[in-house]
Amino acid sequence: MSFRATILTLYPDMFPGHLGHSLSGKALERGQWLLDSVQIRDFAEDKHRTVDDTPAGGGAGMVLRADILAKAIDHVSVGDDRPRLLMSPRGRPLTQKRVRELAAGPGAIVVCGRFEGVDQRVIDSRGLEEVSIGDYILSGGEPAALTLLDAIVRILPGVMGNDLSGVHESFEGGLLEHPHYTRPQVFEGMEIPAVLTSGHHGEIEKWREAEARKLTAERRPDLLRS
Ligand code: SAH
Repeated sequence: MSFRATILTLYPDMFPGHLGHSLSGKALERGQWLLDSVQIRDFAEDKHRTVDDTPAGGGAGMVLRADILAKAIDHVSVGDDRPRLLMSPRGRPLTQKRVRELAAGPGAIVVCGRFEGVDQRVIDSRGLEEVSIGDYILSGGEPAALTLLDAIVRILPGVMGNDLSGVHESFEGGLLEHPHYTRPQVFEGMEIPAVLTSGHHGEIEKWREAEARKLTAERRPDLLRS
């Protein structure tokens, strides 16, 4: 069974977006992963198809209504055991570990917020797992959902040409990745580190590991502590 993502959004045309290109796009065409997007507005009941309302207690902006969003979620999730995610800056920051867990499962139902966010009661009653892609605020959950899916799809079996890439990548071994070089041998007077052209695989591995450690210590000492 292929990984299947169902996106709940007010902007279904934003999907598959960049995931329709390159390797993820080819994999989508081949059915190695599946995507459907559902228009939340289709579950509105009034003639203006209203999905939001002013926040209880006052304040700026609008909030996605619990009743309408719940109907949309129930429509796609009854009898479905895929995890239900809500893209949200208040969520647990996304990690490569969580990406791997999700990629190993049947898929995901992903709710994209808009406005000030969604009514808390739908998060609680439908057991939505809030997922953040970083400590900054986007205008909507769609680019966050595309980011999450990008990270998942690229590690699905058969999607990337070379299934071994991924193994050495940043975060996979708890470290940032070592630097890369390719031709030309000399660029603006700078040479490729000699060890990389030495042909000594053991030495190359040692050099890469040492560079990865150095880079991680400089840039992300928090990764070494955890
Ligand atoms: N008022 C909210 C922000 C709403 S932003 C707050 O301060 O917490 C509107 C929508 O964009 C959110 O509902 C969410 O779906 C999405 N979004 C914004 N930033 C995000 C982030 N860092 N990660 C994941 N989703 C995000």
